[in-house]
Amino acid sequence: MSIKSNIEYIRELKAAAAQKTGRNGEDVLLVAVTKLHSPEEINEAIDAGITDIGENKVQEIMDKYEKVKPVRWHLIGHLQTNKVKYIIDKVAMIHSVDSLHLAKEIEKRAAQHDLTMDILIQVNSAEEESKFGISTEETDQLISDISQECPHIRIKGLMCIAPFEEDPDDAREYFAEVKKIYDKYAAMDMERVDFQYLSMGMTNDFEVAIEEGSNLIRVGTAIFGYRDYRSEEK
Ligand SMILES: *Cc1c(COP(=O)(O)O)cnc(C)c1O
Repeated sequence: MSIKSNIEYIRELKAAAAQKTGRNGEDVLLVAVTKLHSPEEINEAIDAGITDIGENKVQEIMDKYEKVKPVRWHLIGHLQTNKVKYIIDKVAMIHSVDSLHLAKEIEKRAAQHDLTMDILIQVNSAEEESKFGISTEETDQLISDISQECPHIRIKGLMCIAPFEEDPDDAREYFAEVKKIYDKYAAMDMERVDFQYLSMGMTNDFEVAIEEGSNLIRVGTAIFGYRDYRSEEK
């Protein structure tokens, strides 16, 4: 299967899942996750209509940035504060904000560049210890703190990585919990809080995530095939 035909297939599945909730396929943004894939593969995806790509490591964005055609970059993985400065003027949105400490560093760098950074708050609704993100109980406090203390940040929504389940149906409850918080803020009028994105769903569970209300899916394997993690060791 080619990258192009994989993307077409995912678009069909995405549209079918969206229709179950009374939406269209276009209402759900497909972010192609390109980690460990080459600029050539990424450009192939862009030629097939991909407008947004996601990387989970700052270094990979730096390495590929000049070699990839114009596209919106998303930082979707854990972000260390000392690396914010490298990507602040490269990415369209940071999905993984889970502390005021990190938000303040983003604020500082965004102010230096005279820009406003769009972010999502990463919520770990399953409270898995292996994952980053805050608990659902901590969400209100963090959103309120960032909105008060970070004038160069716009909080655009929430991101969630559900636990890997053999049966993706088992992830439904975690998505539903995050959707509830999303709806609350989407209806709220709060300074610098402008909810527009609910980033949930990967290769294994994106259809279930869409059924539970996601409007942004982050899909890698189903587009590019399996990643060769051995190449990371070189
Ligand atoms: C790798 C990754 C994805 C994509 O995972 P696939 O299973 O390959 O679709 C999505 N989100 C994040 C945060 C990732 O690190």
